[in-house]
Amino acid sequence: MDIKNIRNFSIIAHIDHGKSTLADRLLELTGTVEKRKMREQVLDQMELERERGITIKMQPVRMLWHSQNKKLNLKNQNDNIEIKNHPLSADTENLNFDFYTLNLIDTPGHIDFSYEVSRSLKAVEGAVLLVDATQGVQAQTIANVEMAKALGLVIIPALNKIDLASARVEETKEEVGRLLGIERADFGQILEVSAKTGEGAEKLLDEIVRRIPAPEAEFTDRPRGLIFDFDYSTHQGVILYVRITDGGVKKGDELFLAQTKEKFIAGEAGTFSPSRRPAPNLSAGEIGYIVTNIKKPSIGAVGDTVVSAADPLPPLPGYRKAKPVVWASIYPSSQDDFGALRQALERLRLSDSSITYEEETSGALGRGFRCGFLGMLHMEIITERLRREFNLDIIIASPTISYKIQFMDGSEKEIYSPSFFPEEHLIRAIFEPWVEARIITPPDNLGAVLQILHEHEAEIGETEQFGESRSILNVKMPLRELMRNFFDELKSATSGYASLDYKVGGMREVAPGGITRLDIWVADDPVPAFSRIVSRGRIQREAEDAVEKLKGILPRALFAIKIQAKGLGRILASRAVPALKKNVTAHLYGGDRSRKMKLWQKQKKGKKRLKEMGKVSIPQEVFVKMIQR
Ligand code: GDP
Ligand code: MG
Repeated sequence: MDIKNIRNFSIIAHIDHGKSTLADRLLELTGTVEKRKMREQVLDQMELERERGITIKMQPVRMLWHSQNKKLNLKNQNDNIEIKNHPLSADTENLNFDFYTLNLIDTPGHIDFSYEVSRSLKAVEGAVLLVDATQGVQAQTIANVEMAKALGLVIIPALNKIDLASARVEETKEEVGRLLGIERADFGQILEVSAKTGEGAEKLLDEIVRRIPAPEAEFTDRPRGLIFDFDYSTHQGVILYVRITDGGVKKGDELFLAQTKEKFIAGEAGTFSPSRRPAPNLSAGEIGYIVTNIKKPSIGAVGDTVVSAADPLPPLPGYRKAKPVVWASIYPSSQDDFGALRQALERLRLSDSSITYEEETSGALGRGFRCGFLGMLHMEIITERLRREFNLDIIIASPTISYKIQFMDGSEKEIYSPSFFPEEHLIRAIFEPWVEARIITPPDNLGAVLQILHEHEAEIGETEQFGESRSILNVKMPLRELMRNFFDELKSATSGYASLDYKVGGMREVAPGGITRLDIWVADDPVPAFSRIVSRGRIQREAEDAVEKLKGILPRALFAIKIQAKGLGRILASRAVPALKKNVTAHLYGGDRSRKMKLWQKQKKGKKRLKEMGKVSIPQEVFVKMIQR
């Protein structure tokens, strides 16, 4: 396909504004997916995506478009592949009218997956900005626009859900106009669609062709491509998702991965329809896949460049690395699965480069991994995928964040496990991650939102009025506080109307007396896995809750077990699990007092010995109940 006839784009929007549904209509209109195979949000292929109704992975798909599509009655491109002069046949050049290849990358909307969005946007020239006309501009809408603008993409604004009676078309246009700097006289540029009924979708395709520029590429024989994602198949090994920037790639080419220094022969090259379909050639400007046949998932690094092995062009700039913000320990329920867990994480990392993990050992739970995630939903999704896609039975601890500690001796260390948080007297200063957040809320709820912000130690910056019905708050707050149920509280205080977007914006010193470590001791032994970092103001409450909870779940032993919560250099709370009264003489009937006495003595001695050993073995279920959220 002539590069002039290629358009690469993404759909960006706040979560639930209809990206995946709009993609469905585009796939139908272009005959990419047959009607009878069509199902809702067809690009959300992962079981988990379908169940939760959210997009987790970006998903590229190639479509062919000509306004005359309908007249040609192209029911399904895949069925018609044999037909001579079909746009997908080798004779494309001989067609006497213009066909366009539209490469769409569908993206997730939730903040935790914005790394997926940023990677997709680097592979395209334009973006359709979809705004739900019943909701208006939301926090993620603004964040996505900023990202697209920074990359210099052409943005095509479109209002969605115009089929609904509650759509506020004019008001939303005002908001979009304000966001993109479009004058009222030019509001005609803002398209109106219904992803549900398909209204306006054809016009949108035509506008994509008209407004989004064709990709640019210098003419060269030497192939080069930006790797924006990966897949893995047991048969074909690592599969690269690429945006070809120079030259072309075909089956049999000898290629090289610039960053991981891996050579391979392209086993297959092709495009997404949306399933992988081999093509004779992938040329500059196109988006497609390359099969490497390399069976080592660890070679995958997003942002890597694929080049010719013999005569490589210099690598492309690639991506900034994703930085995890929350950490949690993951253990296999059975230690036999440790190897399988490692393999599963390796595989997941290939399709989600933002996960980090390193091995760790915990007394009761054995070997596991300390994993880093981009947020709470991300963590939830990954653990769910480990369970489902890899059939693993795992235990996940409640998430924590990292702190930078400056010691009295001047040295510094980043700590992301509470049990390594140093004693107070060793600390000169503690630094913690802060987030810059943007909250959009109806002005009526402003009071309630400010109250919650106050409770979460937020600093309130500029507040803007955005249109009639919404206020934008720019705030900064500790990540620690954001993770303390902030989003849920915000949602319930605004009956679900507020939206939130945030990014981690550097470290700040914690005010003196801000946070400290709380330890739990059982039978005079600290249990590192139960340690946590808490705000001083809440430490007493947390201490009491923790011992109470543990007392409720720790099985009774033959002797009393002391449970203590220690922090701030003292015991903050203490409870005891009473001893189990075992009737050691039950099997003796009759009055042989001396035999009974002997047994009682033995029991007493045994209890004493147990107590002296001081070891209480905490069963795994108790561990799990204590450390899970
Ligand atoms: P995404 O998160 O942006 O991918 O949003 P989805 O495509 O998953 O859509 C979110 C919800 O909005 C789904 O329940 C869709 O059926 C619904 N939806 C999407 N577009 C429209 C539309 O144009 N009209 C109506 N009435 N509902 C829509
Ligand atoms: Mg979606």
